[in-house]
Amino acid sequence: MTSEPVVRITSLVKRYGTKTAVAGLDLAAAPGITAVLGPNGAGKTTTIETCEGYRRPDEGTVRVLGLDPIADAARLRPRIGVMLQSGGVYSGARAEEMLRHMAKLHAHPLDVDGLIERLGLGSCGRTTYRRLSGGQQQRLALAMAVVGRPELVFLDEPTAGLDPQARRATWDLVRELRADGVSAVLTTHFMDEAEELADDVAIVDAGRVVAQGSPEELCRGGAENTLRFSGRPGLDLGSLIKALPDGSGAAEPVPGSYRISGTIDPQLLATVTSWCAQHGVMPDGIAVERHTLEDVFLELTGKELRA
Ligand code: ATP
Repeated sequence: MTSEPVVRITSLVKRYGTKTAVAGLDLAAAPGITAVLGPNGAGKTTTIETCEGYRRPDEGTVRVLGLDPIADAARLRPRIGVMLQSGGVYSGARAEEMLRHMAKLHAHPLDVDGLIERLGLGSCGRTTYRRLSGGQQQRLALAMAVVGRPELVFLDEPTAGLDPQARRATWDLVRELRADGVSAVLTTHFMDEAEELADDVAIVDAGRVVAQGSPEELCRGGAENTLRFSGRPGLDLGSLIKALPDGSGAAEPVPGSYRISGTIDPQLLATVTSWCAQHGVMPDGIAVERHTLEDVFLELTGKELRA
């Protein structure tokens, strides 16, 4: 996309006492859905709270829809929606009343009844926020963030703690908002969430963005893929490797099970099958193992993501 970024963060530094939570972070989020993916303590929440105007950068600049989240707060607030990790909702108010009140504050709100139905909040509309279950609180916070049909929503771990059905409903809602022209910047621990939803993923580790791109780009640019097939044991791997392009490898980790590493493209696939044909080998179960965001993440950060 060539449009102006909805969020532009330049050299952001944020410290808590002696702890540097964000250490020179650069991020440009284009219109669409951007996922900020990172392990616990990577600085995701601090970054997003700075975008929301809740924290002041120690160094660097943050622009949201071209505005300064603190100096231009009054102009920015009506244009953005915010879903905080902690809910940030007055605990004594009833769920539906809060949502209707929020909708009234905006010129073109979403249909409140539809939203309640979509997010499965129908049965708890008269319940006060503090008496809702964790998952209900989470869904209400999402509804509150989006009901005003903002241009941009910030969602901090929108599906943490939700059951699979509520997760799906959340994803569907975010996708529909996107189709409606709403952009989202969301933080997540979940690879599948980033892969499912995001046009662009920024991987954050130790207060910096260590890689950014579409899920496909990141997976392509990360570790190379693997081609697998089965055949009779003891094939002449030296001969196979000679037939392959430079930089490829071939191994037989288990007798009769072969792995080809390198850039797996149609040409390489053709080379392997043609080598097999020449050597009277039928390659069974030939399959390309694509690297997932999980692999890329692990490679970049040396850490596993935890939910
Ligand atoms: P998580 O996924 O666990 O929410 P995160 O990526 O959102 O993590 P942050 O919450 O931004 O990370 O925290 C970054 C670092 O700053 C962590 O080491 C955290 O302990 C520290 N930190 C966050 N908030 C504060 C605070 N108010 N005071 C002191 N340290 C803090």
